[in-house]
Amino acid sequence: MIKLKQSAERIEAYFVNNVDCRVKLDANEGSNYLLKDGFKIDSFKVNLYPDSDCSSLREKMAFYYGCKAENIMVGNGSSEIINTVINAYCEKADKVMSFVPSFSMYKTYCDLCSAEYVGVDSEDDFSQDINKLIKEAKMLDPKIIIICNPNNPTGYVTPMEDVIKVLENFKNSLVILDEAYADFSGNSALGLINDYENLIVMRTMSKAFGLAGLRVGCLIAAEKTVKYIWKVKLPYNVNILSQYAAEKALSNSGRVVEYIESVKIRREELSSELKKLDFLVYPSGANFLFVKPPIQNLFEKLMERGILIRKFNDTYYRISVGEKEENEILTEELIKIRREQ
Ligand code: PMP
Repeated sequence: MIKLKQSAERIEAYFVNNVDCRVKLDANEGSNYLLKDGFKIDSFKVNLYPDSDCSSLREKMAFYYGCKAENIMVGNGSSEIINTVINAYCEKADKVMSFVPSFSMYKTYCDLCSAEYVGVDSEDDFSQDINKLIKEAKMLDPKIIIICNPNNPTGYVTPMEDVIKVLENFKNSLVILDEAYADFSGNSALGLINDYENLIVMRTMSKAFGLAGLRVGCLIAAEKTVKYIWKVKLPYNVNILSQYAAEKALSNSGRVVEYIESVKIRREELSSELKKLDFLVYPSGANFLFVKPPIQNLFEKLMERGILIRKFNDTYYRISVGEKEENEILTEELIKIRREQ
């Protein structure tokens, strides 16, 4: 077999648990509340390439995000753009820093371009000490600093003062704010894009819009920065159906606000149910909860009952906030498991 380059050889393929289950709470997907009626494929010119620039979609996104279309570049999920940006900026041995634990793909994208991923440990309660990151970054001079806000998997919300501290201290590093879950925290760096040319905000329609299957995400930054990065955008990267569906969803953005509020209420309800069952539940600004349960082999026990959650190790798990009925099934099964202990 022809070998991958050394840095790619080390990568472990991203594991997706493709099992059938009754309740799926492992990947922080929302519900499909915007495109329930679907649409007909015959109305699209699928023989032609899609609009490579996503012009019309960017106009609609700009309205939702409160910026100009020129501030936006759309991707096949925010994953594609995070990878593109890391690969475009980093050469071999350039350093990319973020707190750990965080989104595991950052390291994979670094390995792909032989950049060095440096994780700064979170505190024991999974909060993040920004001064610790700043201190370590001053020594390492990273090419990129990534702040995942709210953080996946812990749900920790970085205060805007901390984001600004990083931006003020590292004008020569690219600062990526991965805001995949920011719709649920309301805490965003979007208002800062015109103040810092080195700031790139990543957003996605996979979570609050419930459109993970469509693969639509975007990068939002100062006009000059977007224009510059456009060089490395893959042509035709967002397919015709996804562009159409995302636009359709965005024209319903009033319902998005409603949905976000309902997720936040269900998040707090689920959190208090879990606490009643003696789970340690970390504060979360996202559509999931990071927990330390008083139950061994929780993943396997729930799987036997048709409920899929995300296991990080034998101690910590991440549970997506489901629909009301899904959360009720989860709680009922957990009560049974607790009784059997
Ligand atoms: N960033 C974070 C923090 C995520 O959790 C995810 C998806 N799990 C992504 C980015 C990628 O999202 P997508 O590619 O669906 O836009």
